[in-house]
Amino acid sequence: MAHTSSGPRSVDEHRAAVAELLGLLPVEERPLADCLGLALAADVTAPVALPPFDNSAMDGYAVRAADVSGASADSPVVLPVEADIPAGRVDVPPLRPGAAHRIMTGAPLPPGADAIVQVELTDGGTSTVAVRAAAAPGTHLRRAGEDVAAGAVALPAGTILGPPQLGLAAAVGRGSLPVFRPPRVLVLSTGSELVSPGNPLLPGQIYESNSVLLAAAVHEIGGSATVLRFVPDDVSAFHAAIGPAAGDVDLLITSGGVSAGAYEVVKDALTGQGVEFVRVAVQPGGPQGCGRLDGLPVVTLPGNPVSAALSFELFVRPALLAAMGHPAVDRPRARARLVSPLRSPAGKRQYRRARHDEGMVEVTPVGGPGSHLLASFAASNCLIEIPEETTEVAAGAEVDLILLD
Ligand code: AMP
Ligand code: MG
Repeated sequence: MAHTSSGPRSVDEHRAAVAELLGLLPVEERPLADCLGLALAADVTAPVALPPFDNSAMDGYAVRAADVSGASADSPVVLPVEADIPAGRVDVPPLRPGAAHRIMTGAPLPPGADAIVQVELTDGGTSTVAVRAAAAPGTHLRRAGEDVAAGAVALPAGTILGPPQLGLAAAVGRGSLPVFRPPRVLVLSTGSELVSPGNPLLPGQIYESNSVLLAAAVHEIGGSATVLRFVPDDVSAFHAAIGPAAGDVDLLITSGGVSAGAYEVVKDALTGQGVEFVRVAVQPGGPQGCGRLDGLPVVTLPGNPVSAALSFELFVRPALLAAMGHPAVDRPRARARLVSPLRSPAGKRQYRRARHDEGMVEVTPVGGPGSHLLASFAASNCLIEIPEETTEVAAGAEVDLILLD
């Protein structure tokens, strides 16, 4: 996306710039068990009808409706039982007028039969059966093709494959499906102050949290993430970390080292290498970058954990979902009444962490605007979106929410 002015980029402009880095991911045929959550890349037509044959919806007796039209509890109709048809029987004998076949749920309807009498309305006999109720033609029958006709589209391209969709694919005989393959993402944190959780901290050090958060966010949408060992604020260490890992991935996400300080390792390493560093009119998460490093799409997120998480949410998540063929890439939205007043900087779109109530009537901000307040984010179930031009929102005002739960 062209970015001509020298002012900050809008949220939407940066979102478009990141989305442009990723094309549709390649299509691959995957076994059904490996397709959960992925988008179908082509229509699935049913090679066979569903159900494939007329069959019984009940355990009971296959009859000709005309033979039992006079049956009642007071004067049952007694018929000879001439065959037993469990589910899976393939040599189903035709039904003679004046006779019944015992039949189980899912078993093929014998030729000549046009109704099922459920076992509860009979004496359950095996040589003869006393039928205690009439059954109209078609009673308890499941007709071939009434769910899906042979040759019809069972699942259209673009379908997100959840449990029912995968079940349907199997039911029409498909063992594998063409899907957009999940993205492979490299995650690299930067900062000389970082220490892996589980190790002791020296004064001035903090635990590294962005990589686990970002990798989980990639996993959550069905991608695969490889976390590189984080690097100190050192340009050669940065390049050394990426070099061997960069083949065979679709996206590199870095965090930290992109703002206006003196040791901005990502900015220093990637400026002039195809990655553009910009300021986005958003709070939190103003300093951003994106581009291509030797062809590899790169998105550089700021280091504060809430900024990194929110930037993923706003810019990276929709781009990855679009690349995965998802027709809808945005989280659901809602509106609710703000419980306490908020302030927002002029000219920036602000996202505040918050909790909405169950009925989505009221929303309560959680914590302040600080981009280091990770516990507030972890306690939230939505984001309040405050437009660029708004600087104050009164208690009781309706606000826009992005729902995270
Ligand atoms: P930076 O964007 O590198 O200036 O980092 C901004 C703030 O985020 C600093 O307080 C960093 O210590 C913190 N930070 C950067 N990267 C991480 C990380 N991977 N995990 C936790 N905090 C981080
Ligand atoms: Mg840093």
